Amino acid sequence: MIFKGKYTYNKMAQQYSAILLIDNVSNEITLTINGDKKSYSLCEIKISDSLGSLPDVLYFSDGGCFTCDKKNQLRKIIRSKKKKKLEIIDFLERRKATCLYLFMSLILMTTLVFQYVIPYSSGIVAKNIPIFIQKSLGEETLALLDKSELKPSKLPLEKQQEISLLFNNIMSIELKNSPLRPSLIFRDFPGEANALTLADGTIIITDELINLTKDENEIASVLLHEMGHHYHQHIMHTLVSSSSIKLLFLWMVGKTSNLEELLINSGSLLLSLSYSRDMELEADQFALDAMVEQERPIEMMKSIFTKLSEQHVNVNSKLLSSHPSWQERLDNLDKALLQQ
Ligand SMILES: [Zn+2]
Repeated sequence: MIFKGKYTYNKMAQQYSAILLIDNVSNEITLTINGDKKSYSLCEIKISDSLGSLPDVLYFSDGGCFTCDKKNQLRKIIRSKKKKKLEIIDFLERRKATCLYLFMSLILMTTLVFQYVIPYSSGIVAKNIPIFIQKSLGEETLALLDKSELKPSKLPLEKQQEISLLFNNIMSIELKNSPLRPSLIFRDFPGEANALTLADGTIIITDELINLTKDENEIASVLLHEMGHHYHQHIMHTLVSSSSIKLLFLWMVGKTSNLEELLINSGSLLLSLSYSRDMELEADQFALDAMVEQERPIEMMKSIFTKLSEQHVNVNSKLLSSHPSWQERLDNLDKALLQQ
């Protein structure tokens, strides 16, 4: 919109012919006075009150003023634009509070989801995962390990049979009757004494760990610890927790048939996961209770755990990372020994 009129510079009496242009998009006001251009934003100007037949006058922040040739037209436009702008600012101010509220709520919701909802729901989901998925996962993980890090055991067959017998003797009736009854296999893993449990209950013990032991009760405590992980379904719990975001997304988009596919193809993911501190302590407690019940010396559990902790201090391995916080676990065994 263009308005013609007269412009007076700050503290000057002389009037100059001027053209005022209002940009409808940016709401910027441009004045052209004898080729001289000046730009102002709406908030930089004031408009005169309507007084009888007096023309509309715009007062600018630099002290200049523009007297419009036409009466009332400029006043109406400027006032309506200023009002609209104020409404927008007010609207945004109100929205700012709403946005802040939404942002805070989002942080709170995310915290609650990660702290409570995911661990709780993953526990429920883990307990209801079909047996065939767990079997498939166990087989897949073992195949991956056999292809990469594990080698066939070099232990004499007699020694393997002796330990397998021990394994069956220490297993509880409940685990013996479970659909995923634990099974024991031997593997060679040069330089790494370790044991780990797969999703289907297969427990792998390495030659190096067997060679580290001097007493069958040391082996029993390691095997019982692994049985504890299986009994409490730690591996599935960990997998579901780590896949929760994916699972949640699949559930939201209604692709529940992909749920099984997602879990079945998680063998490699399992190798990168590690148990939580609480899970390790729970598996230790399972082993401790069984050792006491079977009247086996807890000293042997402490003995092998001490040897393993000394071995694993400077080793950085995915498999070994499944056994963190040795000191806390050894302290717990000391407490159990004191209570005897
Ligand atoms: Zn463990």
